[in-house]
Amino acid sequence: MSRFWSPVVRSLSPYVPGEQPKQDGIIKLNTNENPYPPSPHVLTAINAATDRLRLYPDPRASALRETIAAHHNVAAEEVFVGNGSDEVLAHTFQALLKHDAPLLFPDITYSFYPVYCRLYGVSHEEVPLDAAMRVQITDYRRPCSTILLSNPNAPTGISLPRKTIEALVTEHPDQLVVIDEAYVDFGAESAVPLIARYGNLLVIQTLSKSRALAGLRVGFAIGQRPLIEALERVKDSFNSYPLDCLAIAGAVASIKDDAWFHDTRQRVIATREALVRALSELGFEVLPSLANFVFARHPNCRGAELAAGLRQRGVLVRHFQKPRIDDFLRITVGTDDQCGRLIALLRDLV
Ligand SMILES: *Cc1c(COP(=O)(O)O)cnc(C)c1O
Repeated sequence: MSRFWSPVVRSLSPYVPGEQPKQDGIIKLNTNENPYPPSPHVLTAINAATDRLRLYPDPRASALRETIAAHHNVAAEEVFVGNGSDEVLAHTFQALLKHDAPLLFPDITYSFYPVYCRLYGVSHEEVPLDAAMRVQITDYRRPCSTILLSNPNAPTGISLPRKTIEALVTEHPDQLVVIDEAYVDFGAESAVPLIARYGNLLVIQTLSKSRALAGLRVGFAIGQRPLIEALERVKDSFNSYPLDCLAIAGAVASIKDDAWFHDTRQRVIATREALVRALSELGFEVLPSLANFVFARHPNCRGAELAAGLRQRGVLVRHFQKPRIDDFLRITVGTDDQCGRLIALLRDLV
């Protein structure tokens, strides 16, 4: 604390990211990274783009927006890109979520949402997940300006089908619905096809998880033009060049490589299903996940103790010291070998 701090800085409670260990040999199943390297075309494209490092990048990132638009069957003007979807989310909070009526999101969801509420002075209410840790859209029938859902939800992994998202959007014609689809590519249904019909829907995705590019920092939003324009106004009042030329080139190459995408997704999904079976056999209760992680607890073991035991043995998983979920572990789906090692250790620990 210093007397030079702006008052808002005193009131912040910053997000704490999962640990990035310095030592080698740690099995990292704590931050939902992809266990496979990105498409080899990404590296080629980044190498070629180094020629342009002397120049400022395209402030509109047109090549990337057009590539995303073609992939998702929307117009390039309906795409906004940012430095990771965290930045896209941050701009969304500032551009679209700050109103008199509160923003609604689940009590258990991505813990960055309340952090942005503080930073941008957005009033919000948390809507409890039901006893099965599911979002019930009928619980959102209350006064609000916006509804924000992560779908699949983090850290539960549970997702709503597109028709349920559509019901939510139609039930709230005067509210904005924002769907954070960071994990949608691992088997859930995207709400992007609804964009053409609903002006009150914004969908946010990232290349960090399903494209194995967490280190490149690329995320995007898709919505009708007026919503995208609001995000552009904030972005152009903040940083003209959020994406550098290497990130733009790498992201374009990644989205164009359908074969890599299809193959690695299928591998992650197959490993997830095996991991769920193995955890269940050890007595874990595992929530039904359509993400690249599972959320599980054991009836006889404290979550904190299991996480600490795994950590001592060189495996990192995520544990949240939070009511309702403090006995759960959020385990990223790694390779078959990594998950096998995890299961072997858990067999000793439980
Ligand atoms: C990982 C994650 C993000 C952020 O992704 P980046 O694009 O890496 O910033 C956003 N939302 C949720 C729910 C996430 O889990």
